[in-house]
Amino acid sequence: MPTRSKIQKIELFHVDIPLKKPFYPSWISGYPQLHNRFTLIRLTTDDGIVGVSAGAAFETEREGLGELIGPYLFGLDPTDIGVINQRLKEISYLGWRNSWIEPAFWDIRGKMEGKPVYKLLQQKEEDVKEVRVYCSTGEIQPAEKRLECIDKIRGMGFKAVKLRVRSPTIKEDVDLVSRVRERVGEDFGIMVDANQGWRVTIIDEPPLWDLDRATSFARECEKLGVLWLEEPLDMYSYDELSALREVAKTPIAGGELSAGWHELKIMIEKGCYDIYQPDATFAGGISTSRRVMEECLGRDLGFSPHTWTNGIGFLVNLQVYAAFPRKTYLEYPYEPPGWIPLSRDAILKNPIEVSSRGTVPVPDTPGLGIEIDERALRKYGKRFYLLTQLRLALQSIRRMGLKTTLEIARKKGVR
Ligand SMILES: [Mg+2]
Repeated sequence: MPTRSKIQKIELFHVDIPLKKPFYPSWISGYPQLHNRFTLIRLTTDDGIVGVSAGAAFETEREGLGELIGPYLFGLDPTDIGVINQRLKEISYLGWRNSWIEPAFWDIRGKMEGKPVYKLLQQKEEDVKEVRVYCSTGEIQPAEKRLECIDKIRGMGFKAVKLRVRSPTIKEDVDLVSRVRERVGEDFGIMVDANQGWRVTIIDEPPLWDLDRATSFARECEKLGVLWLEEPLDMYSYDELSALREVAKTPIAGGELSAGWHELKIMIEKGCYDIYQPDATFAGGISTSRRVMEECLGRDLGFSPHTWTNGIGFLVNLQVYAAFPRKTYLEYPYEPPGWIPLSRDAILKNPIEVSSRGTVPVPDTPGLGIEIDERALRKYGKRFYLLTQLRLALQSIRRMGLKTTLEIARKKGVR
C-alpha cells in the first residue's frame, strides 16, 4: 500500500491589494471599497505538493485563526475530503466559517491525481476548454453611465450582463433594465440582482423588498426577457421565495452566501430557486457545491456559482462550474475603473481576462489552476501564521506540558 501524504506545513497570509480607483459595491450601499482583501491559505504536504485557497476578508479579522485551525488540519491526509470536512465542521463550532479552506485540499488532490479539479467532479470525464461568462457589474450607476459601460463590455465580447437594482421605487429599477434592453436588443443576455439576500446597512439603508415588490418586479423582468432575477428576498425567507417562484415566470436565482448544505438542502426541498449559486468559498466548500450541482442536474434546475470575491475564489468556482454539463453563463466580476482584473487578480501570475468570444479559459493544469505570483504575494501579502511539525510540538509542550503532548501524539498516531 502506498504511504499516504500528510499536511506538513500550514501558512496563512493577510492579502491587501489597494484598488486603483474606489469601487462602490451595491451590496454595501454607500461604501467606497478601496482594497481587495482576503486571507490566503497555503498547505504543503510532506511530498512537497502545495494547495491554495482564499477567503474574502474585510480587514485582518482572521488574525488568530491559525492557532485554532493548525492542530486540526496538521497531519491530515489531503485526499480524505470526508475527514477534512469533518475537521472544518469541528473548527466551526466556535463560530468561524471555514469552508473557504476546503478547496485547498482539492487543489492538492488534483495535483496528486494529475487532473484539473473539474475532472474530479464530473460525472463523465471530458475536456472543457472554456466557459461562457457574463459581465457581473457591481455598482448602482445612473442609467446614462451604465449604458456607456454596457457599450464597452459588448465591445469586449461579453454576451450578457448582470445589473444591480437598488432604487427607492420599482419604477426606477424597471426603467433602468428597460433602457438597457432597448440599448442591447433582444439577443443580449440581461440578469438582474436585487442583492436582498444578505442586506448590509452599515452606511446607507437600501430598500427592503417584500414578496409584493419581488413579485411585481419579477413580472416586469418577464416582459423584458431577463434571464434570471437574483436574490429578490432575504436568503432565509424560504417560504416567500418558494411562493415567489410559484408565480414568477422569470427564473429566480440565489444561494451565494449560504452557510452550507444544511441550508441549501432546505432551499432545494422548498423549491426556493430555479438557479442555485453556492460559492464554494462560502457555502461549504467544493464538496457542498458539488452536491448542489448534482441535485440541480437531477431536478432539472440551473447552477451558476457566485464568484465575486477575488481571483482565487473565481478560479475555485470556475472549476466547479466547468464540471456542470448544462452550462449557461458564469459570473465574471468586472466594474471598471474600481474592480478590474489587475486589482481582482493581483497575486495571480496571469490575471483572468475575458476573450473576444465572451469566454474565459478553464485551466487544464492539475489542481485548481491557481498560480501565485510570489513577488506580488510578498508585495501585497503578510504571512501571519506558520505551522510546521516542530512548531506544533513546541506549541503543544508550552500549553499542555510534555507528558500530555506525548499522550495526545500517541492517540492520534494509532488512529
Ligand atoms: Mg448576487
